[in-house]
Amino acid sequence: MGTIPSETIEQIAAANDIVEIIGSYFPLKRAGANFKALCPFHQEKTPSFTVSPSRQTFHCFGCGAGGSVFRFVMDYEHTDFPSALRKLAARAGITVVEKFRAGEVGNEERERELRQRLLMLHAEAAQWFHENLTKREVGEEARKYLRSRGITVEIAKRWQLGYAPDEWDGFGSWARGRGYELRDLIASGLVKMKDESESSPDQSKSGTGLQRSYDRFRERIMFPIHNDVGEVIAFSGRLLKDEEGAAKYVNSPETPLFRKGSVLFGLDKSKRALIEVNCAIVCEGQLDLISLFESGITNVVAPQGTAFTESQARILKRFVNEVVLCFDADAAGTKAAERSLDALLQNDLIVRVAEMPVGEDPDSLIRREGKQAFERRIAGARDFFDYWIERETANVDLASFGAKIQLARRLAETASRVRDPVMRGEVMSKVSARLGVAAQDFEALVSRQRRADTFSPRDHSPKSDATGAIAPAPRHDISMLCLLALRDETAREFLRQQNWRETLAHVPDGEILGRILESDLRPGDAASLNAFMVRLSTADERLVSSWLLQKIPANAGAMVEKWWLGIRQAVLRRQLSVATNQIKLPKLSTGDVINLQKQILDLQEQLHELSQPAGAADN
Ligand SMILES: [Zn+2]
Repeated sequence: MGTIPSETIEQIAAANDIVEIIGSYFPLKRAGANFKALCPFHQEKTPSFTVSPSRQTFHCFGCGAGGSVFRFVMDYEHTDFPSALRKLAARAGITVVEKFRAGEVGNEERERELRQRLLMLHAEAAQWFHENLTKREVGEEARKYLRSRGITVEIAKRWQLGYAPDEWDGFGSWARGRGYELRDLIASGLVKMKDESESSPDQSKSGTGLQRSYDRFRERIMFPIHNDVGEVIAFSGRLLKDEEGAAKYVNSPETPLFRKGSVLFGLDKSKRALIEVNCAIVCEGQLDLISLFESGITNVVAPQGTAFTESQARILKRFVNEVVLCFDADAAGTKAAERSLDALLQNDLIVRVAEMPVGEDPDSLIRREGKQAFERRIAGARDFFDYWIERETANVDLASFGAKIQLARRLAETASRVRDPVMRGEVMSKVSARLGVAAQDFEALVSRQRRADTFSPRDHSPKSDATGAIAPAPRHDISMLCLLALRDETAREFLRQQNWRETLAHVPDGEILGRILESDLRPGDAASLNAFMVRLSTADERLVSSWLLQKIPANAGAMVEKWWLGIRQAVLRRQLSVATNQIKLPKLSTGDVINLQKQILDLQEQLHELSQPAGAADN
């Protein structure tokens, strides 16, 4: 993505009234000059979530969440800044023109257009498959099959299930008839080119280019895969009749729309439930997920494929802190659970395991036992490490020292992958107790393992964290100066004329004030405040949104001078004390001593000037 110019951000902020935007998600009540509601970001009984129409910002005095209209959409919808910006731009009918480096323009534009065409194709394809299933003769067998699995017409509608007929060019010829070009059909992955070496499926070899292509999905129940805003971006097709040598499930290949490892099936529907319950039930298949969801267990997701990828775990962590893996009890299911573990632990997710009875999967189980029994299984799901320890110790004679040490090493390897130190500590004490190994011995094994592992660079990447703690506010005088520099034109001008860069360089929590002063925000202009906040970290944005809701002191002009003076004096005094200590050090050269003496005199003089009543220093 290119960079989006500040003016565009301001324009979009100006065109989207924050009261209207937030009010479209949940009702707001007027309270004086502001609006209030129960905070959507934490549990509360009396509203402390405040929206300011004049500042065009929001802030919660309970949990500290707050910021611009963009921040609200990002946090509430769990999306990133570019998506929030596009959403608000689209709402206001503004075209986002990104600035690209030379040469980048053509490609970006072409890719964007291709993605648009592919989205359209997927939407229409999903509809065509769906009508095959629900309205056409050709879907009879598939309808029967789904009925036998408890999928009613209503459910099939809600999930837009479909059917790809048993034809080589059924979808392809329909899509070409709709005006789609073969090029785009191939790019979508829905149509494949026939490998020249392969024997012709059912057509003559003298065919044209069109006939050398064929449908990827044939005689399959079609599950559309959505991105998290609900657009169809790929399909998963389940074989209608089990056939030897044919894969039971076939997924779309990687395309410009679909990156397999970074999509979770069902997330577009389960988002809100995930946030509410703060726990995700993970099942393997699409049908499992649909069954659970339709029975009222809605905090469910399914990875595409069998194991969690790093990027899927990262997405999930945006919604929940805990995961219950609900895999089949068979060997393949256990393997999948174990393979998922790394990615989940690396993202500090608490992992529990709900073993399904042999021969059952979540789909069959919930239909046999019902919702409540299933919920009891989830509630009773064991901590992954308990399950793991038991499994690993089942076949080991703990009385044999050699076997015990080998087992301890294996478990240390797993424990070492837990990134969160507190969680790791718990795991270590659990394992050492279970094995009867001294805690510090096991810890030593784990830390040796951790050193051996090369940790990935993602450990250093900054975390974007919607639920993050409130940053400690700077001390009072800095906070007040920030408030004034954001809100009062005269105070802001006064500060900008001081040597603020030099002074703030010596003030530990003065960075945020520096950022406010160096920006070109306009205190009276809500859109420019929103555009300014976009460039801040989440923590700083929260601080700024709280300052924007505070009262401005009545005598702003006098106060800004007084606080600034206080800060300058404090900085000078600190520098003075450093210099006075340095000059007492032994073994200073004569040059050093002279320099320090000069410095001390200079600092004393500046302090003296500052302590004169206003105006006196000029005489
Ligand atoms: Zn809150």
